[in-house]
Amino acid sequence: MSDGGTPPISSSVGSVNAGTSSGAADPENEIIDDKTPFRKFVKKIQKQQGGGCWRWQCNFCKLYYNGSYTRVRGHLLKEGTTGVAVCNKVTPHAFTAMSKLVKECKERLMNAAPRHVPLPSSRQQGGSSSTSSYGMSYHAYTQAPTTSDGGKKRKTAAGFIENAFQNSAREQCDGEVARMYYTGGLSFNLARNPHYRNSYIRVSTLSGYIPPDYNALRTTLLAKERKNIEQHLEPIKITWKDKGVSLCSDGWSDAQRRSLINVIATCESGPMMLKAINCEGEFKDHSMIADLIIDSIKEVGWENVVQVVTDNGPVCSKVGALIASKYPTIFWTPCVVHTLNLDVKNICTPPLVASNADVFDACCWI
Ligand SMILES: [Zn+2]
Repeated sequence: MSDGGTPPISSSVGSVNAGTSSGAADPENEIIDDKTPFRKFVKKIQKQQGGGCWRWQCNFCKLYYNGSYTRVRGHLLKEGTTGVAVCNKVTPHAFTAMSKLVKECKERLMNAAPRHVPLPSSRQQGGSSSTSSYGMSYHAYTQAPTTSDGGKKRKTAAGFIENAFQNSAREQCDGEVARMYYTGGLSFNLARNPHYRNSYIRVSTLSGYIPPDYNALRTTLLAKERKNIEQHLEPIKITWKDKGVSLCSDGWSDAQRRSLINVIATCESGPMMLKAINCEGEFKDHSMIADLIIDSIKEVGWENVVQVVTDNGPVCSKVGALIASKYPTIFWTPCVVHTLNLDVKNICTPPLVASNADVFDACCWI
């Protein structure tokens, strides 16, 4: 009987001595969820519609109620504000013990909470240094807001204070952004992403802007962007029928060294990435690769596909044969670049065997 993460409560009910005057005396080894310590004073009966709602029985008064944890607490602590009757069987002694328990849980939660570590500040680092701890020169900041008036460098006291304030605010912004990278495990390469910089530039023009949250990023915004990209690719797709498509496929590894196989549809109007499949842990034989490419042929429409281009390895040559036998109008073409690559490798390091001695002598200098 678990509602996804909360510890079982009914098993520990016996230890509470509910309904007696002893209140909340716990054995030492009992596990209490600090966020929901009162769960152990009730018995869950049945899950109900609505997030976190249960039918439960109070261990003190033995009566049944419906509702979430807020009601359990309201019932036992006699709050009278949570839409549930207060418990008349909780003795003063038990009430004191429960209040103490709440306090202890709160303290434990506070101690376990992530501690606030102030952002680094050059002022803290004991100096009037003009260089921030992020390697960015303060001068770069100071010049923009306090430009000289008509070429004359006038520094009033007010201007100096404003300048110092801006420096401090900018430094704190830098610190916050840097900490986002470090705590989120973000790749430093993200700083080279033009959308990273553009997003901050746009934000600077919108006061009070709050960035999208976790759910918006993974649902509505993702769907919106996908739809947008698909709309932009539509003009290319329309030309497939007239111009014919070459499907190119290659295996590669991404930054996390995951083995991927990609399929790209190219035609005169431009290339289009169809898919990149994570083949981590899979045995990449010819039938597996052929299945992937056949899926893409179906996606593009077999009548639009002119040829399939892969590298020239033995597995891919088998893939080509398999596809050609299934679709007689589709040709397999070994990738020219890969073929040249193999040729050049062979010329540069010809195998030294009796039949190849002349080639080796002629080419070994390469
Ligand atoms: Zn009760």
